[in-house]
Amino acid sequence: MDIARKLSPRTLTSFQSRLLRWFRHHRRDLPWRASHNPYRIWLAEVMLQQTRIAAVIPYYGRFLERLPTIRSLARAREHEVLKLWSGLGYYSRARNLQKAAKEIVANHRGHFPRDLGSALELPGIGRYTSAAVLSIAYDIPLAVLDGNVARVLARLGAVRGDLRVPRSWRRLQKTADDLLAIQSPGDWNQALMELGEVVCTPQNPRCGACPVARSCRAYIEGLTGEIPAPRKRRVPVSIRIAAAILRDPQGRTMLVKDPGAHDGVLFSRMWQFPAVEVVRHARAELASHLRETFGIDASLEPLVAARHGVTFRNITLLPFLARLPKLPGIPRSRILPLKDLGQLPVSSATRKIAATAIAIEL
Ligand code: SF4
Repeated sequence: MDIARKLSPRTLTSFQSRLLRWFRHHRRDLPWRASHNPYRIWLAEVMLQQTRIAAVIPYYGRFLERLPTIRSLARAREHEVLKLWSGLGYYSRARNLQKAAKEIVANHRGHFPRDLGSALELPGIGRYTSAAVLSIAYDIPLAVLDGNVARVLARLGAVRGDLRVPRSWRRLQKTADDLLAIQSPGDWNQALMELGEVVCTPQNPRCGACPVARSCRAYIEGLTGEIPAPRKRRVPVSIRIAAAILRDPQGRTMLVKDPGAHDGVLFSRMWQFPAVEVVRHARAELASHLRETFGIDASLEPLVAARHGVTFRNITLLPFLARLPKLPGIPRSRILPLKDLGQLPVSSATRKIAATAIAIEL
């Protein structure tokens, strides 16, 4: 599998040159490629985890406009950071980003550290993110390994089996280290990632357009459809969440921090409608949750259910409208017009629930 060892020093240099040349001609013009500022690269890497490039671009611009430096991020209120992240999902990324920014200000005079050990000590930063930031921002020779790079390397070396098992992953990291073009580590890492994203795609790789096809064992041996082996999928778990949209005659609603309903995953510890996981009778179970947790007695009118997927969970959101003459005063709650929900940091599940009530008002 170790393609780097099989290449003579001259062939390795030619392999690196072909890929780097291809990257310099074909690289996509992405906003985080406009500078070598480590904060901008770090922010992009964190936003891009589990999220598509097209979805990240508008968030990235807004975030940097409001919080253009590590110091401004460290000083910001968590509320504001989460609001800027609102809709991107996986909110622990935003919380860790800010925690790390505070540590950088406290311990590194506001500059992203230049050594791997210090970067790895920061919250939310693992081997991949450290290597990406240090190589792209500072040209430090560290090879990245993410899903795209692993797929490319596995095909180059015709590696079979599940790439994510620790032994295979370690071997792929070793291959990535051996192949690294140490004179241009930032461009090299981006070139491999770019190749995986736009040419060596999971299905139907475009080998005819690949600059390293002649060094690729999977291509030569006709194995590109079999490598990498498909990952074993977790069986999805089905969950039903009933949520109450309380509404007063002025069109205002109430959001809470409700520990009762998957707040760690679904609502990401942000403002949400009162909600509870239900087993059988959604309306009755929600009514009882409202009474016991908030002291609210309300008649609940069912709205249109919505689907929501979070990793291996299939979630059905069951919104209910409760028309009340007056919204209750509850500690740790927010009252605001339903249409102004976007003023608070809320998860995409909360937005979906709100949309069902807004739809009936239109
Ligand atoms: Fe991927 Fe095909 Fe290039 Fe091999 S030749 S690295 S399979 S795109």
